[in-house]
Amino acid sequence: MARQGRTSQDNDTGDGPRVVVVGAGVVGICAALQLQREGARVTVLDRQAPGEGASYGNMSIIGEDSVVPIATPGVLKQLPRMLMDPLSPLAIRWSYVPQLFPWLWRFLKAARPAEVERISKALADLLDGAIDAFKPLLEEAGEPDMLRRTGWLCVYETERGFRAYRRSLELQRRRGVRVDVLDGGELRQLEPALGDTDRFHKGVYYPDVCYASDNYKLVRVLARSFRQRGGRILREEVGDFEIGPEGPSAVVTQKGRHAFDRLVIAAGAWSRPLTRKLGCDVPLETERGYHLTLNDPETRPRTPVFSTEHGMVCTPIDAGLRIGGTVELGGLEAPPDWRRADVLLRNAQRWFPDLTDRDSSRWMGHRPSMPDSMPVISRAPHFHNTVFAFGHGHCGLMLSARTGEMVRDLVLDRDPAVDPTPFRADRFQARRPDRA
Ligand SMILES: Cc1cc2nc3c(=O)[nH]c(=O)nc-3n(C[C@H](O)[C@H](O)[C@H](O)COP(=O)(O)OP(=O)(O)OC[C@H]3O[C@@H](n4cnc5c(N)ncnc54)[C@H](O)[C@@H]3O)c2cc1C
Repeated sequence: MARQGRTSQDNDTGDGPRVVVVGAGVVGICAALQLQREGARVTVLDRQAPGEGASYGNMSIIGEDSVVPIATPGVLKQLPRMLMDPLSPLAIRWSYVPQLFPWLWRFLKAARPAEVERISKALADLLDGAIDAFKPLLEEAGEPDMLRRTGWLCVYETERGFRAYRRSLELQRRRGVRVDVLDGGELRQLEPALGDTDRFHKGVYYPDVCYASDNYKLVRVLARSFRQRGGRILREEVGDFEIGPEGPSAVVTQKGRHAFDRLVIAAGAWSRPLTRKLGCDVPLETERGYHLTLNDPETRPRTPVFSTEHGMVCTPIDAGLRIGGTVELGGLEAPPDWRRADVLLRNAQRWFPDLTDRDSSRWMGHRPSMPDSMPVISRAPHFHNTVFAFGHGHCGLMLSARTGEMVRDLVLDRDPAVDPTPFRADRFQARRPDRA
């Protein structure tokens, strides 16, 4: 427990509960806005400006089709081949394996067919309505048109790649996701920007998927809306908590302390040290991803195009053409391996041969990832006044508004519309048999 320092007094008018949200990524900001709409007095703390973590550079995709977890029997089959190549879509920094092992073990267990089915159902429940959940937030922020419903297109260059994906396709169909399977000619009709269609064996179109015209702007717009309604966002790093008789009562930062009635931890991939201080260890790791944004691209597809063979997405955001994706398991500290961003461009050139990187920027970010591909949206196991919201992996943008609603309900002691049980923080902890 830390010594008491300066106490923050601002934001203390009104009679709603005082809530501190740690993390101004898209998840923390959506939670803060939802709480504020219900009269809570909310302070968001982040060591960076809003949206500068993983939320800065993602691929902007917001779809309710993401019901297939990352760990599946199909991915396990491809694993050995991928792991031998540091530039493959899924790579591991070998020096990091000892630290990663407990997470990897749980990842392998999550790939069992019955688990995949269970996880997929829970994800489908969470995703149902995830797009609509943005509407009130964006309308109130004065930016109702930031989401574009163009669908997105998955292209397969090989029959083998398409065959490997068939189980996922069946799973998506079982969960009610609308998909159209296309041949080369149909692909070209749908997306004229694709070059030589002989290159493609098949395509799969998901008509209901949206993308944000600019994912970083989306966070900033929501943060601005939160501030305009009296919310506070402070640039401070949370290092500790004060724990009173009723549970955590203040966060301690490098600048002082902030007392609260309720606490939300939404610190993305960096949440684990904070939950540990609150007596709860969670198997949270990071799946590092890369992007390259071409500011003035020679070609702009109409829809986002992606490939499970290359683990890559191309999204035509307002800032240019963003090419990104892939997974590198290497922890939070290792420097970026920019060769992985260069590979992204080479792969995108297979589809859009005119592209060059003459005016571009590169980025590496940390997805906050749980081994079962499900986020933690949960009360802290030991403290009723604390809610965790992190671990959204590949789906943090698309699930952020929906997560905000659930966090609001958990904080305000209401029943969330979605059953939060699958997303409990302690789901990986061994359970004692019930006593009679
Ligand atoms: C290459 C790539 C592509 C992706 N594409 C998509 C996509 O198309 N669609 C999608 O839905 N998702 C996508 N994602 C995933 C998505 O970006 C993340 O899941 C999401 O941004 C997580 O949001 P967050 O708010 O939880 O975390 P973050 O955005 O990382 O925010 C966490 C914040 O907490 C702050 N913080 C941490 N510790 C502390 C502390 N102690 N004190 C104060 N502040 C702290 C950090 O500074 C950070 O700002 C992608 C990710 C990557 C890397």
